Amino acid sequence: MKALKDRILKDGRCFPGGILKVDNFINHQMDPILMKSMAVEFVRRFAGTKINKILTVEASGIAPAIMVGYLLELPVVFAKKCKPSTMENMLVTEVFSFTKNQTYTICVSKDYLQSGDKVLFIDDFLANGNAGKGMIDLVKQADAELVGMGFLIEKDFQKGGEMLRQTGIHVESLAVIESLDNCEIKLKDI
Ligand code: 5GP
Repeated sequence: MKALKDRILKDGRCFPGGILKVDNFINHQMDPILMKSMAVEFVRRFAGTKINKILTVEASGIAPAIMVGYLLELPVVFAKKCKPSTMENMLVTEVFSFTKNQTYTICVSKDYLQSGDKVLFIDDFLANGNAGKGMIDLVKQADAELVGMGFLIEKDFQKGGEMLRQTGIHVESLAVIESLDNCEIKLKDI
């Protein structure tokens, strides 16, 4: 998606370890106009897919997910980073975050993810696919169906995209980073 790619080149910043910072328009300050355009693009790419619920994970997936939910007029559920004491009536899984080098317990209420739900997962980044794997697990536990996964930015030099697509899931990414070597942003021409 050209508008996102242009913005990444203009305002994205590389950090050591293959991290891209997009705090200026996605992860801290947010650009609602761009966010809306990205949601419109997701709606276009998943047109024809039967969806009844948008799922994301707190915190940075919430903004794009709610935009998609608004456009499709569907409920948006965000998986929470939970403490064990609050886990009642919850579906629970573990997600390793490589940006924070930490494993989180992620949970979602059984009231909001149920058997028969057709779920579209939306998140900001796809890196190693750990958040994605966690969502696959939660959806499976709920006996729901994961009908697609949409990411604003995919980092192609990490293996999450390949891993998720190999499972047969419909994965869409609006911008794909080929490399961040030498702190230079190289975008894939898609
Ligand atoms: P994964 O679970 O696919 O390994 O990583 C995706 C999650 O880690 C995203 O939800 C995102 O919050 C975070 N993440 C991964 N790579 C980056 C990055 O380069 N920049 C930022 N800001 N977050 C990232």
